[in-house]
Amino acid sequence: MSESVALQTGRDETRLTPAIQLVGLRKTFGAGDHPVVAVDDVELTIEDGEFFSLLGPSGSGKTTVLRMIAGFEQPTAGAILLQGRDVTHQAPYDRDVNTVFQDYALFPHMTVQQNVEYGLRVKRVPKAERVRRAAEMLEVVRLGSYGQRKPDQLSGGQRQRVALARALVNHPKVLLLDEPLGALDLKLREEMQVELKSIQRDVGITFVFVTHDQGEALSMSNRIAVFNRGRIEQVGTPREIYDRPSTMFVAGFVGPSNVIDAQLSAQLMGVRATHSVRPESIRVVHHAIADTEVSVEGVVSDVQYLGADCRVRADLPDGSHILASVPSDGLVGVSIGGPVRLAWSRYAAYTVAETTTSEGDTQ
Ligand code: ATP
Repeated sequence: MSESVALQTGRDETRLTPAIQLVGLRKTFGAGDHPVVAVDDVELTIEDGEFFSLLGPSGSGKTTVLRMIAGFEQPTAGAILLQGRDVTHQAPYDRDVNTVFQDYALFPHMTVQQNVEYGLRVKRVPKAERVRRAAEMLEVVRLGSYGQRKPDQLSGGQRQRVALARALVNHPKVLLLDEPLGALDLKLREEMQVELKSIQRDVGITFVFVTHDQGEALSMSNRIAVFNRGRIEQVGTPREIYDRPSTMFVAGFVGPSNVIDAQLSAQLMGVRATHSVRPESIRVVHHAIADTEVSVEGVVSDVQYLGADCRVRADLPDGSHILASVPSDGLVGVSIGGPVRLAWSRYAAYTVAETTTSEGDTQ
């Protein structure tokens, strides 16, 4: 966009440049006959101001991608652009990014305020400004009155927020977070998910968040990239990823899903292709179904009580099974060993590719 167009629209031109572009990014570790392909030809664009998650199982390459963006690891091939500038061969301290790690790495002998000021001291920011900016950032992470405490006088969640304040005080363009909530217990983690998202909205900085927890990624992110064996299987909003998984891997990794093979799909839906249907899209039926629906008969092999809902497992004549998430008060007539008819809308079934990654590509 030209300067005049930027002026006419009143928009800041830099906001239109993606925060991060990964172009054909590849990383192999080790040489010889058995190199490990940790990251395999990754293409990704992260927009300015996004809360973006890299989601995938252990060993899928998320951390290696993050470390290459930070500059701690050199790519074997490809390029990394930050705000449109090629930084592939730049040192970490020359990149406008900061990283928050899982273990916080706070200085134990310093107060909270001194910990947050540290990065500014290194940059020789004058003392008065340092104190003011650190205090401001502690307010942002809701720790305004904790400045004089030492890290060991804080809870895990509070320590994590100090680490966040310390990373944000330099106003980096991008904040990289490597499983930052991994060390917290479940309740605290859920609280911090809400806090982190709201802090990100307040500061407007691009967050790139690494996690193997699909619930965490779905609840916090604007968009998600799902990793498998060093490759990206799908990029999309939480809704797209959950409702329309494009591969069998994504369907299975991001929440429970039913995979209906091509033969059964042809029989039930008239389309010979593998389909995925979420359990909550499937209901138990006792009556005739609409034209837009599909139904199948099976035998109940398990009923799992989950509170408001129950998970019903039905074995089908072809040897496969289907999971349905049914409201606990809708289980009339359902008993283990008994027959059941399950139905779902044709619109709730999506075709999925086997996977984008072939077996044995990495690891
Ligand atoms: P986790 O969630 O367990 O941290 P991850 O998805 O972040 O996993 P990476 O840490 O990026 O995965 O690792 C990807 C692959 O690269 C793994 O097979 C790992 O063993 C390998 N790997 C990572 N770092 C190195 C290294 N320094 N030397 C050799 N292999 C490595």
